[in-house]
Amino acid sequence: TNSNGHYRRVLLKVSGEALMGRCDYGLDTETVAAIAQDIKDVVALGVQVCLVIGGGNIFRGVSGAAGGMDRAQADYIGMLATVMNALAMQSALEKCGVPTRVQSAIPMSAVCEPYIRRRAERHMEKGRVVIFAAGTGNPFFTTDTAAALRATEMKCDALLKGTQVDGVYSADPRKFAGAERYQELTYLDVLARDLSVMDAAAISLARENDLPIIVFNIRAPGAFAAVMRGEGRFTRIVE
Ligand code: UDP
Repeated sequence: TNSNGHYRRVLLKVSGEALMGRCDYGLDTETVAAIAQDIKDVVALGVQVCLVIGGGNIFRGVSGAAGGMDRAQADYIGMLATVMNALAMQSALEKCGVPTRVQSAIPMSAVCEPYIRRRAERHMEKGRVVIFAAGTGNPFFTTDTAAALRATEMKCDALLKGTQVDGVYSADPRKFAGAERYQELTYLDVLARDLSVMDAAAISLARENDLPIIVFNIRAPGAFAAVMRGEGRFTRIVE
């Protein structure tokens, strides 16, 4: 965190599903534009921002494997899906005047930069939003794990997990009226109670590296900036 106690650098994980908006597949340009605007507001606060974008709105490896495809091959398709989403997000951010770079864990030189850790840091120091695409570059992983990995490498102050609800609940709040929202949880709470926040690999990596995870509602306009100001509703996952 910087001298005002504010966040200096954060990583926002945006799932592929968050980009679908009201659609049930693919990209909803209005939704992508709204998230881009929220990111712009956070950049305007002086926070360095990087992103990991998922691909579940287009393709998931497990679904491909369930259909009979080789799992690793299906996962590579999933990683390519995240590159498409990253390019869409880049386009939306630049449309609202935010300078960006996409870096892919799978080199794709005609389309974006390859992932280079030190270069990514330089981009952020210059005020650019860096969008990390292609997950970790390895099959059998998820973009949640990629988010924990990149956030650690980039020495981020927090990993922001944008979801469809405003934090972690004792049960699905969309199904159970009595579900209670946690203000703070420990990494071990999440692992032991198998709370569906992020996969266990991502939680473990965050725990080992003391990386706070903040779960908030990415669908609420302005919520990202509110969380950065310490306002609004969210759940913090810490030691
Ligand atoms: N994927 C992968 N390795 C990674 C990250 C992602 O193989 O490091 C593949 C995996 O098949 C996954 C797909 O990419 O299903 C899309 O990512 P994810 O499901 O994490 O996206 P999200 O749920 O965030 O939309």
